[in-house]
Amino acid sequence: MTDAIDVLSPREVPLGGVRSMTVRRTLPHRDRTLIGPWCFVDHYGPSAASMDVAPHPHCGLQTVTWLFEGEVEHRDSAGNVQTIRPGEVNLMTSGAGICHSEVSTTTGLHGVQLWIALPDTTRSAGRGFDHFGAESVVIPDSNSMATARVFIGSLAGAHSPVTVHTPSVGAEIRLAAYSSIDLPVTPDFEHAVLLDSGSVSVDGVALGHGDLACIDPGTTSLRLASGSEGARILLIGGEPLREDIVMWWNFVARDHDEIVAARTAWEAQSDRFGAVTGYAGPVDRLPAPAMPQVHLKPRKARRSGS
Ligand code: MN
Repeated sequence: MTDAIDVLSPREVPLGGVRSMTVRRTLPHRDRTLIGPWCFVDHYGPSAASMDVAPHPHCGLQTVTWLFEGEVEHRDSAGNVQTIRPGEVNLMTSGAGICHSEVSTTTGLHGVQLWIALPDTTRSAGRGFDHFGAESVVIPDSNSMATARVFIGSLAGAHSPVTVHTPSVGAEIRLAAYSSIDLPVTPDFEHAVLLDSGSVSVDGVALGHGDLACIDPGTTSLRLASGSEGARILLIGGEPLREDIVMWWNFVARDHDEIVAARTAWEAQSDRFGAVTGYAGPVDRLPAPAMPQVHLKPRKARRSGS
């Protein structure tokens, strides 16, 4: 059992542009920037209408797409084209720069979009892309009441081969009705549990729909308990990333000037981000917003005092 659990409530964010979806965002949060290396959590659906995100740039991060329902086609400037379906993960590594488009090929989307901040040692390395279908495994000692699909790292005896740059974990977990399990976790990791559907408590703390429960390092198991509808949750975690990051628009960097340089390179259509071929949407690429008037400062991993 853990000392304290911080529950972050989502805020609704309309994605704007040609996107028609509203998402529930829990990271970054005013009280918290990182869970391990995870720096961004958007949750959408069920029955989100559709997604059409024109080519846009990323740097300093990996994007992780995980769906509960629907299909999305990914195209990137490294030449990867990959349709993703429920139970599969698309993981795109930006290195110093990449751009991609995402277009749903069905309606009724339901899933998450997550980012992992790259550590300083590899954040300027090359682009990469992994796709993996995660098998559903029964969580040991759960009396078959709980299953997991592990899409990052290792959990419950299952392992994902996709490339990550700091020790981390990501998994979808399903609990049958009235389950109560102790899920073994890595004590060095920070963890967070997102409630997608049904009802769940984490170490006795009940979550609302879309809430993100944050658990400090130092625990060896999480007690997960579901109600009459069972639960579908997402677990993310990892070793704390002991680096202060600056996040702005689609970029993760270390200071204001790096953000300005990334924005300038995207607006100049430089080779740093490359180009997507085969995207047939209404605009060729998303323009960067104007820089804010303020000098961007690194975000602390957690707000002091919280
Ligand atoms: Mn993106």
